[in-house]
Amino acid sequence: MSMLRITGGAIHDPANGVDGEIRDLCIRDGRIVAELPSDAPTFNAAGRVIMPGGVDIHSHVASASCNHGRRLLPHEHAADPMPAPVFADGSVGRSGTGGTLPSTFTTGYRYAGLGYTTVMDAAVAPLLARHSHHEFDDTPCIDGGFYTLMGNDEFLMRQIDAGEPAKARDYMAWLLGATGAYAVKVVNPGGIEAWKTGQRNIHDIDEALQGRKSTPRAILSALADAANALRIPHGIHIHCNNLGIPGNVATTLASMEALDGRRAHFTHLQFHCYGGGEGKPWSSAAREVIARINAHPEHTVDVGQVMFGPATLVTADGPVEYLLWKSSGRKWTNVDIELESGCGVIPYMYRDTAAVAALQWAVGLELFLLSEDPWRVVLSTDHPNGGSFASYPKLIQLLMDKSVRDAQLAVCNQKLLAGSALLDGLSREYTLNEIAIITRAGPARVLGLTHKGHLGVGADADVTIYDRNADIAAMFTSPVAVLKAGEIIVEEGHLRIAPRGARLHVRPNHDAAVLPAVRQHFADYATIRFENFAVRGLKTPPVVPP
Ligand SMILES: [Zn+2]
Repeated sequence: MSMLRITGGAIHDPANGVDGEIRDLCIRDGRIVAELPSDAPTFNAAGRVIMPGGVDIHSHVASASCNHGRRLLPHEHAADPMPAPVFADGSVGRSGTGGTLPSTFTTGYRYAGLGYTTVMDAAVAPLLARHSHHEFDDTPCIDGGFYTLMGNDEFLMRQIDAGEPAKARDYMAWLLGATGAYAVKVVNPGGIEAWKTGQRNIHDIDEALQGRKSTPRAILSALADAANALRIPHGIHIHCNNLGIPGNVATTLASMEALDGRRAHFTHLQFHCYGGGEGKPWSSAAREVIARINAHPEHTVDVGQVMFGPATLVTADGPVEYLLWKSSGRKWTNVDIELESGCGVIPYMYRDTAAVAALQWAVGLELFLLSEDPWRVVLSTDHPNGGSFASYPKLIQLLMDKSVRDAQLAVCNQKLLAGSALLDGLSREYTLNEIAIITRAGPARVLGLTHKGHLGVGADADVTIYDRNADIAAMFTSPVAVLKAGEIIVEEGHLRIAPRGARLHVRPNHDAAVLPAVRQHFADYATIRFENFAVRGLKTPPVVPP
């Protein structure tokens, strides 16, 4: 039986209404408890800040797509070697490499080093789910899960074409269980399949795929209804059509309107908030979009902030990667995933001297600073698309310290910033409690993870302890201690142990009557047998909807 009493720290636990209260935190057997015997071991946190472990709602860390990216980045591996850590008991961990797509072990070590203990991979093709489970098995220190791609799924679209919503729902339930996924991801609904089959991309949510009834609107609607009927803990996770294109705000607002009144999560919103196009210059449309989100409590978002520096674009959105390759001439890979999706990767660099990158940086900050509900507008950089997760401390600093933000704004390319709220001057500075919401409590709530993101009795004892520091980036870069399931895994910058985390996945009930048709679909079109498709042997039981 393990016990620990953390004494004297200021606790930031917004899910339980606690904002900097100084009191003891008691941990027994990996969970938060109300009391401990007086002789329990203690950890002195006097003068320090205590938060739940960080929860990353949208990252790319454990997928075949990440592996394609790693292959494209040998120069990053050479520039950022990660020596094998020596643990507290003298045993030696695994070495690896860093850069924008770190190796599996390095990913776990570095997330833990920042105080993050739960990470969701945002895009895994069902066919490649097994690969993702193996990568998560090799990524220590964090609990992890992934969202499985369904926005361009051939079997799903056939159910939409045939007007069979019940079959679509049962297929979703079966697919989530068969792949060991946590939620459903929608990327450029219909557009990837259209592009792969010669129709180019889809730019309007009411444009049908050639020869069928499926439109982006129909796909979004079918998937949202199915996920909500199945009570999946996290609503469908949507990457809208027209990512990164000037004028895409119209598509973004139309997609949101299409799901009015229905639970849904719109991801990396920054990439979908641009005005301009058709001869007019790019501009920020953040104000319009965040006003809509503020008014719709059924919708949640993560920001997908762009941070200046190196990045790697990793997405299922093949047509977007193709356009970027054409405009940038950088090295590029694009992959077809049969019957399901696509995948593209391009190494990238955001420079503050570049007009579009500066606009993207400003749009993300506008979304954060104009958000009226931090519980529904949570932090992400869409790692490594908008920047590495390693840049989170700098992003937190931009939100908490206007002087740092203004200094960066002053040296940015101003060409496309006219009319942006940031240029007009936004004086808001996030509080420590608001940071605790957008990095832990909020993502956990949006994900329906009732044991994460808070420090109430019964919660997982994932805890991060920071030293106060006027330099906010320094404070959030080096926690004094990080606890995972009640064990101190990082202390004073050293990795003490690197335990294997749990897998977060769901297994909704479904009517097995749908399966003969799925089996026939595999027999007719897939290169894998139906019998060999499902992932087996996950060690953690499925998460039950709250
Ligand atoms: Zn993403």
